[in-house]
Amino acid sequence: MPPIGIFGGTFDPIHFGHLRLAEEMAAALGLSRVLFMPAGQPPHREAPRIAAAHRLEMVRRAIAENPLFAVDAREVQRAQPSYTVESLTALRDELGPDQPLWLLLGADAFLGLASWHHWQRLFGLANIAVVTRPGAQLLQPDAMQEPLKSEVLNRQVADHTAAGPAGSVWFQHMTPLEISATAIRDILGQQGSVRYLLPDTVLNYIYEHQLYLQT
Ligand code: ATP
Repeated sequence: MPPIGIFGGTFDPIHFGHLRLAEEMAAALGLSRVLFMPAGQPPHREAPRIAAAHRLEMVRRAIAENPLFAVDAREVQRAQPSYTVESLTALRDELGPDQPLWLLLGADAFLGLASWHHWQRLFGLANIAVVTRPGAQLLQPDAMQEPLKSEVLNRQVADHTAAGPAGSVWFQHMTPLEISATAIRDILGQQGSVRYLLPDTVLNYIYEHQLYLQT
């Protein structure tokens, strides 16, 4: 059964760093699908700049041409703060215990994992693939802090095909793209150009709805 990837984020807005991450991880891990799961009100960080409906629509437009990519809107459809552990539990119930799942995380997100709600339960629900990101610390367990370090040392696999439905950690290098949504919002706020940092379909949507144009 080919594995499925789950890629969460605020996507405020979605950009080529996100899309390239999903593309490279799909190839590296042999994923049959990547589910983009925009966060509703993320509990562990400040509120996204714009309404969830806009972030969702930009994700939809960005992935429209890629048959491997799909959107999972469950978190933006919730009124309450959404926790990854709850979304993964629901997904696991839908897909059954045998479906291999890979939660895709950039290195910066992974290094903050120990602050997430019931984070250790995530390993019972999915494998975790951690992807390099410019500016984030190198992915070496020795450089990590406890309690994350012990989980990595226990769970890291040398071959991702040896992973089961859940419980393994895999580190993957991706083409470095130093793009962040924060920088995109800042440039737009100063009336600068963000062309070639995100898809034109997303850029058109941003201008159509006058998003991020005030600082
Ligand atoms: P912000 O600047 O608002 O924090 P962001 O660009 O980091 O946003 P998020 O939606 O917070 O985007 O990120 C979702 C996921 O994508 C996270 O796991 C993050 O580490 C990863 N990610 C985002 N941009 C990149 C990139 N350029 N290279 C690798 N991973 C990335």
